[in-house]
Formats: sequence, structure tokens, C-alpha cells
Amino acid sequence: ETAEASNFIEKIIEEDLSRGSTVPRKWCGHPAPYSEQEKGQEDTARIRTRFPPEPNGYLHIGHAKSICLNFGLARKFGGCCHLRFDDTNPGKESSEYVESIKESVKWLGFDWEENGRSNLFFASSYFKWMYQFAEYLIRIGYAYVDEQTQEQMKENRGTLTEPGRNSPFRDRDPEESLRLFREMKEGKHPEGSMVLRAKIDMASPNVNLRDPAIYRIRFAEHQETGNEWCIYPMYTFAHPIEDSLENITHSICTLEFEDQRAFYDWALERIVPLLRTPQFEEAGRVLRAMASGSDDRADAFLAACVANRAKLGSSEPERRAAAILDRHAEAGTSPARGTEDARSLFALMLERTELFTPLLQHALDVVRPNFFLLSHQHEFNRLNLSNVVLSKRKLISLVKEGLVDGWDDPRMPTLMGLRRRGYTPASVRNFVKKCGVSRVAGGSIDYSVLENSLREDLDDKAPRRMAVLRPLKLVIDNYPQGGSELVRASNHPKKPEMGERDVPFSGELWIEESDFALDPPKGFKRLTLPKDGSPARKVRLRAAYIIEPVSCEKDESGRVTVVHARYFPETKSGTAGSETVKAKATIHWVDAKQGVPAEFRIYGRLFEVEHPEAEDADYRTLINPHAKQVLKGFVEPALAQARGDDKFQFERTGYFVADRVDHAAGRPVFNLAVTLRDSKGK
Ligand code: ATP
Ligand code: MG
Ligand code: MG
Repeated sequence: ETAEASNFIEKIIEEDLSRGSTVPRKWCGHPAPYSEQEKGQEDTARIRTRFPPEPNGYLHIGHAKSICLNFGLARKFGGCCHLRFDDTNPGKESSEYVESIKESVKWLGFDWEENGRSNLFFASSYFKWMYQFAEYLIRIGYAYVDEQTQEQMKENRGTLTEPGRNSPFRDRDPEESLRLFREMKEGKHPEGSMVLRAKIDMASPNVNLRDPAIYRIRFAEHQETGNEWCIYPMYTFAHPIEDSLENITHSICTLEFEDQRAFYDWALERIVPLLRTPQFEEAGRVLRAMASGSDDRADAFLAACVANRAKLGSSEPERRAAAILDRHAEAGTSPARGTEDARSLFALMLERTELFTPLLQHALDVVRPNFFLLSHQHEFNRLNLSNVVLSKRKLISLVKEGLVDGWDDPRMPTLMGLRRRGYTPASVRNFVKKCGVSRVAGGSIDYSVLENSLREDLDDKAPRRMAVLRPLKLVIDNYPQGGSELVRASNHPKKPEMGERDVPFSGELWIEESDFALDPPKGFKRLTLPKDGSPARKVRLRAAYIIEPVSCEKDESGRVTVVHARYFPETKSGTAGSETVKAKATIHWVDAKQGVPAEFRIYGRLFEVEHPEAEDADYRTLINPHAKQVLKGFVEPALAQARGDDKFQFERTGYFVADRVDHAAGRPVFNLAVTLRDSKGK
């Protein structure tokens, strides 16, 4: 099948696939997380992506973009997407969050199953591999234990314009680093007293390459591994390892991680030998063939070594190779096959292949394109939405400080909040699609785009019902005393296939307070009393009769309590006489005897300011105090049978959802999901 690329990441994947498989064909030698049987098997997925949330909060609408992108790509290109919990940071994480994240992903309509195998992973289950890789880096001279204080390290990191300074511990003997690292693991050193750092380049223009910390001491109980560990890998170190252990082909993240890509590649290039992939073994074979002089691609390979000399690190064998390559670079030549230089280079590489992986990675490209099939990181623009905050830290404080009613409060931009508010999975997916995927950072989507996407979905799907939110009694004086009847109402004006229902009607009804006016504003077309001999205004009761107001009752304060009207029996909707009398407006109603009392929760936007995070004031003080209003009114009897999460259009009022927590058949509770029209500029 041909999948049309619709964003830049899809184009990249199409290109990768057109060059041949980007997925290692077999699970070989990978220590985790695949089972023994799987190790020898062909990989059936063409691409592997992952969605890697940290279980330190509930997912929000921004995460929906990442979910739709990663799972969507897998679906489109015949691959699979892993759900991986990035739980490397104990203390802030919990299994409540894990469960809610799984529920959110499922709710959005995605699944991490692949041919009956579950691709649900926890980064914490790789801790022992991460530890091994760290020891390995120390042994090959690419990591060291640093005992500088945090302040010293910060000071020595330099700035964007100034290079950093080497730590006095940088050149300590690997054996000593190894001993200290093991002591760190055994709990012999206090938190903050030392860290393990990658040994890269303190002068790198990319600050992330200035010997980043890769392991730190933390005496924290982990929700999965308990007290097994008191050292934990940093996110930047853990992530490429997680990806490569799972054979991820396209590691997709937001643009803030762009500067981390260099470290991601650095780590993977060094770890490849330990992974013992078939690719690494094949690299050894190619190298031996060229060293033996029998392979005539050796000249091209040696020239590529000169060109990629910068990939070499500072170990002794690498320094010796660098000296040879530098000499040729200066002379503008490259070592020829069979010469002394070529022989020395091959000898160095064959003896310590693992040290030369980064160079080989690039040099082998000349003779074996796409040779090392490492995961690659690609960045896209994050989703920003107006009128909300989207950082988990801020959402947590809203919940913990009781400023909202929990994570699933319908005002929250969490997926569980949106669900309770009445958002459908399709409306969220469509919204995300509208936002697009690009590399242009910084934009923010207006909240009304999200609301519109829900309207579009519900306009199509939600059955129409009648509910009165602010009730006012209407008495039809000429209706038969004690009589009642059923009228037929359509469930969807544009979709006859959705059928009709019976609605009880009688001489006593509830109507919306705002549909009657003693002093009508100009242009008011609904119920008013006739004045100065002018004819009374006629109004249609939806699906029932035309009426004409005659008088009203008031309480001592002058508030209208009852409106009296007369009806025209021949005007019943759906009968031949319904056209005999004309009405300028139609209003909704609920039968006073058979209607059911209901609670309505009218929600607005959590923040009225468009960009709460950009304001000077603390975002918590900017919460819209009117974002939740509770009304008591009535619904037609059919609505008392609604089940939690059922969605409706209440005629003339808005789209509502039966609250999934508090709604019960005898005690209906409905949440306003979205108004019928965009009320911006109201
Ligand atoms: P936050 O910044 O809200 O705390 P996070 O990035 O720390 O979120 P993670 O759990 O690490 O949260 O996120 C999981 C994935 O979701 C990451 O790959 C991240 O890039 C992506 N993601 C998070 N927020 C957004 C967003 N606003 N738009 C797109 N993707 C996002
Ligand atoms: Mg994160
Ligand atoms: Mg974050």
C-alpha cells in the first residue's frame, strides 16, 4: 500500500523505507526486553516508534499530539508503537499515574498490542542494563566519577559564549572511577557527593556535550524497583538506551530536545558494541575483509576515515589512529590499501573495535550504506493551547491545592478532564490533526479551535433533547384540566435515521426564564405580554403547539413566577393544521409533572486570560472564578435514563454530557461540554 506523506516526519520515514529496511531484521543479542524465542525471529514491524511518558501526572492535550503522531505513524507505515513509561525519576512518580496514562491512551483509541504481544515497557526494568552500559563507558574511558560540588560543576560548565573548564577529576584512572561508581551503587556515598559524567568535550559549543551527568545518587524508593537502587540514570542517558533496547527506529520528541540529539547519537554510537547486534558483528567482518587487502572498497573506506576523523575520542588507540589520519588530512591524501598506514589503522580498529564505533559508523557508510541501524531522533513542534496551562508541574499544583476538583475536573486540559467534560476521542484526534506537525516552534492554538472540533463531532452524533436550565412555570389556561398527551420529537433534524421519541406534554410546563420578558429588548421575538391593544406574540413550543401569553404572576419582589398562556389545539406539530397559525420563534420546554429534576454544571474556560503563563501574576491567581456554575432545572424523562458519558444536544442550549462520576438514573447530572456556537467576543 502507498501511504501519502502529510508531514515532514512522514516524508523522512518514507525516505528511510525507500532505502531499505530501517529495522534490524532480527532480534539478536538484545539483552532486553524481548523473550528468548523472539531474539531469533524476524521483526515484523517496518518501523517502531514509542510514546514515552513519565508517570508523574495525568496526560494533557499536548500529550495527545505525541500519542496521535507516534501511534498514527506506526499504523500508517505498518509498524508498531510502544507505550513506555519513562520512570527513571522516583519520588514524583506513582502507579496511579501509570494507570491513568494507560486509560488515556486507550481512550484516545490507540493500543500497544502487536500481533498478540504487548509492547508495554517500563524504563526501570532496564536499570541493570543502563548500569552495565555506564560501567562499560567508564572502562573504555568515556565516563568518570566527578566529586565537584554542584556549584563548582555549574560554574565550570561555562556559558553559551564561553567554553567550560575541565573537572580536576576528569582524568582520574578509569579503575578509580569504576571503584567509586560501584560504591555509589552500594550506597556508600551521600546524595550529591558525586555523579558519573560522560567524558566528551568541555569546550563543545553544544552545552549538552560538556560532560553531562549520566548517573546520580538518590536514596528514593522507586515504585517498581523498590529499594534495589540508590543511583538512577539521568533522562538523557536512559533514553537512547531504552530506544535501542526496544529496537525503536524513529524516536520522536518535541523541539526542546533538539540540542540533546548530539548526546543521543554519542551514547548510541558507543553502546552499539555492547548491544551485540548483528550489525556490529557484520561490521567486524567487513573490517577484517578490508584489512586483509582483498576488498577493493578499502580505499574509499580509508578516505572516509580521514573525513570523519573528528569522531575519534581521546583513548590511547584512538589518539594513535588520529595521528595517522591528521598527517594525511594535512597532506590532502588518504592512506592507500596495503600501505603501512593502512595496516596500522586496521590493526588498531580490529583490536579495539568498540572504541572506534563512532568512526566506523560513518566510514562504513561509504561501503555499506545504512549499515548501523540505530534509532534516530526527530523533533517536532509542541502543542500550545490558549487559556490553559499545560505543564504537569502546574497542573499538579492546581490539583494539590484544591483549585480544581481533581485531575479529571471538566475544566482541566487533561485528557481525563476533557473526557469528563464531554470531549469525544474523535474530537481530540481531529483537533490534533488540525494543529499539524512541523518544526516551527512557539505558536499557540486558540482554544476555540478545540471547541469547534467538539461541536463538529457532536453536531453529527449527539441526539437532540430538551432540558430547562433556569426554569419558569408556564400554565396553559385553556388546556384540558388534568389532561396530558405525548408529542413526537425528532432526535436529529438532519438525520431522520436517528428516529423520533415521545415527549410528555400537559397544561403545566417548565420553560427557560430567559424566554419570557416583561420589558423585552428591541428585537425580542419570544414570550412577552401584549401591550396597548397590540396583538399578543405567538411562539411555538418545540414539537408541540403554538401558544400566546396572556398574563403573569409575580412575587412580592416583582419577580415573575408563572406565565399564563393559551394554546391553539389545531397547531400541533406534525398535523395538517400546524401551518394555520404562524409563530416567529420556537422555544423548548419540559413537562412539569413528568419532567425530572436535574443538576447542570455550566463550565467555562479555566483561565480567561489567553496566556496565563506569560502573565506577570502567578497563574493560580488568574483562574476564572466563574468557570463553574451549578444550576438546578428539569430534563425530559428520556434523559433520566441516560448513562454516564452519554452526550446530547440540549436544544437551543448546548452540548451536554451525563457526568461519568455523579450522574445516576434517578438523579441526573449533566455537564456543559460546549455551547452551540462560538461565543467569543460575547
Ligand atoms: P510537561 O512538560 O507537560 O510536564 P513532559 O514533556 O514532561 O510534559 P512527558 O511525560 O515526558 O511529559 O511527555 C511524554 C511525551 O509527550 C514526550 O515525548 C513529550 O515530548 C510529549 N509532549 C509533552 N507535552 C507535549 C506538548 N505540549 N505537545 C506535544 N508533545 C508533548
Ligand atoms: Mg518529561
Ligand atoms: Mg516537561
